[in-house]
Amino acid sequence: MYDMIIIGAGPAGMSAAIYGLRAGRSVLLLEQKSYGGQIVNTPEIENYPGLPAISGADFAENLMSQVKKLGGEVLFEKAQKLHHEDGLWTVVAGKTSYQAKTVILATGLKKRTLNLENEKRLTGAGVSYCATCDGMFFRNRNVAVIGGGNTALEDAVFLSNYCAKVSIIHRRESFRGEHKLEQILRKKENVEWHLSCVPMEILGEKTVTGLRIKNTATGEETVLDVSGIFIAVGQVPENENFRGLVQLDSAGYVQAAEDCLTSAEGLFTAGDCRTKAVRQLTTATADGAVAALAASAYIEENDQ
Ligand code: NAP
Repeated sequence: MYDMIIIGAGPAGMSAAIYGLRAGRSVLLLEQKSYGGQIVNTPEIENYPGLPAISGADFAENLMSQVKKLGGEVLFEKAQKLHHEDGLWTVVAGKTSYQAKTVILATGLKKRTLNLENEKRLTGAGVSYCATCDGMFFRNRNVAVIGGGNTALEDAVFLSNYCAKVSIIHRRESFRGEHKLEQILRKKENVEWHLSCVPMEILGEKTVTGLRIKNTATGEETVLDVSGIFIAVGQVPENENFRGLVQLDSAGYVQAAEDCLTSAEGLFTAGDCRTKAVRQLTTATADGAVAALAASAYIEENDQ
């Protein structure tokens, strides 16, 4: 039996593990894929206070080595089921059930898809959701980046360093992402802008051969000659397994305020998977601390 089971080993989950372990609690950290969450795809983090420049992968590596050094147990299994009985939580992961006094949901977000025809079929054959993972396959070739947030702009900067041409497709005229990134891109000669444009069709049989886009202001359609399409249109929560146990909002985020308390007894949440206004690395790690300390206080109260 554990004091805390933390579901998700992104920055929020790993920070929760560090705070839980340092509070003297036993911790099991469950992760369905690889640790680090989405931050591992960021080549250089420049907005984490006190760390002027570190890669996302190194940041995640440091967090995991902190967790392990403090004695945290880490298991790579998907948490499939959760239930609460007689004051204890049971988490089913793989073929085993684990018990804990508290659970912290830190499941993060998964990439949003566009649901275009051919998108799924050509994923891995020209369609990608991760420029840092797949960008190198498109050296000296033409690529498109879809989206207008920080991820899309960072991806475009990264790709423009070695792709022949980067076409940015964004549905509005102004960007949600940082102005500084847009400024960097505006100076690049191999960047082409398609604003107020939406993707209509991904072309290609075995691999991507083009992208048809439509200008929503003029109605004009254009086919871009690209072999890579990087989709960066935001993220969505993955909390469906927990519906019924905990209150989710209409978009599927776990309902919780800054105190990271959920509607369920002994169940806490941290990071991007919860309802919040600012989803940043800083707020994810801060949530991890808040949730773990709240869980530790809950154990203290209930153990008496
Ligand atoms: P995001 O900020 O939610 O941006 C998603 C973009 O995709 C928006 O520009 C949105 O357009 C567009 N979009 C959404 N659905 C679309 C659709 N169906 N068709 C076409 N376009 C669509 O997502 P993100 O860029 O992944 O960033 C997520 C969070 O991580 C943000 O808080 C971001 O600041 C943060 N982040 C931070 C860093 C960093 O600090 N280094 C790096 C990456 C991400 P609209 O603008 O019109 O809604």
